[in-house]
Amino acid sequence: MARFTLPRDLYYGKGSLEILKTLKGKRAIIVVGGGSMKRFGFLDKTVGYLKEAGMEVELFENVEPDPSVETVMRGAQAMRKFQPDWIVSIGGGSPIDAAKAMWAFYEYPDTTFEQLITPFSFPELRQKAKFLAIPSTSGTATEVTAFSVITDYQKGVKYPLADYNITPDIAVVDPELAETMPPTLTAHTGMDALTHAVEAYVSTLNSPFTDPLALKAIDMVFDYLPASYEGDANAREQMHYAQCLAGMAFTNALLGIVHSMAHKTGAAFSTGHIPHGCANAIYLPYVIKFNAKTAAARYADIARFVGIQGDADDELVGKLCSKIDAYNAKLGIPKSLKEFGIDEAEFKNKVNNIAALAVGDACTGSNPREITPEQMAKLLTCTYYGTEVDF
Ligand code: FE
Repeated sequence: MARFTLPRDLYYGKGSLEILKTLKGKRAIIVVGGGSMKRFGFLDKTVGYLKEAGMEVELFENVEPDPSVETVMRGAQAMRKFQPDWIVSIGGGSPIDAAKAMWAFYEYPDTTFEQLITPFSFPELRQKAKFLAIPSTSGTATEVTAFSVITDYQKGVKYPLADYNITPDIAVVDPELAETMPPTLTAHTGMDALTHAVEAYVSTLNSPFTDPLALKAIDMVFDYLPASYEGDANAREQMHYAQCLAGMAFTNALLGIVHSMAHKTGAAFSTGHIPHGCANAIYLPYVIKFNAKTAAARYADIARFVGIQGDADDELVGKLCSKIDAYNAKLGIPKSLKEFGIDEAEFKNKVNNIAALAVGDACTGSNPREITPEQMAKLLTCTYYGTEVDF
């Protein structure tokens, strides 16, 4: 038996934020990040609409990027004091992810992160509050997913939380919020969305329920990402929906080794952080070539769906990779880790260790082709030098 879970309601379109006026409840806490939602006036609007709905409103502000265990615990404590029946999270992936974890600790103060990290083992939520998410970036799709990533900075560990209990009750996909994204963030988050959809489509857990969502998302990203990057408002809007469709697919079909590699290389090098979407964009064509040994037919489906011409699966897979390469070039994304600026000696030193960690990542299990640590090290080396994957 398999399960397919999405939020109960999804509101979309310009101005859909106004749906907050109609929420029924007594108290709402708003979980938000740095300053952009405040600066652009969306935080004030959110507060105003909730007050119009007759609710008492409290703010939990300044959730940092890659939110920490401490922030989650502080938020849960604020919730226990205020006793909200709605948790409203607004912003990029970080405040929404943090709010999901706060929700669990609000309802179950005695639980621990160690208990929550076993996938799909959460206690039953919604005993005290329901959850509404409003994304301001077009990539993570955390507004529709069962996932949250919290960092323990003391232990240097990332806790990937996964449970359908933390799939939000309501997602508000209002493109006006996404208009605030700068171009580089638009490029990276857009390629993250493309990677979500491609990995979900070829995942070992793909299904007739997730396939149409993944294919449509891929087609829309190819149609709209370049213009969205250039600031076109309609393209921005379509990308906001495309990333959400991709999220609906991957929350149910899971991901693959592009994400395993991005997770384990993101913070591995002294030359600086590789943004998540940028890492995915670099790795995606190399991983397609590796996976095509066993999943060529699925990648060929994708190629045909987006209008690529060709007969043999191999030809279609090659053309799909070239198309992704061309998009990366247009979006200012480097072709290799070397071009990104990772130091060669440091890469060589660390590659075997990173490869072992990447094989052990939670996303490796649903990848369509099995991979050994030795193969992973070889694959990472190809992404470093920009060389052909032929094994
Ligand atoms: Fe991602």
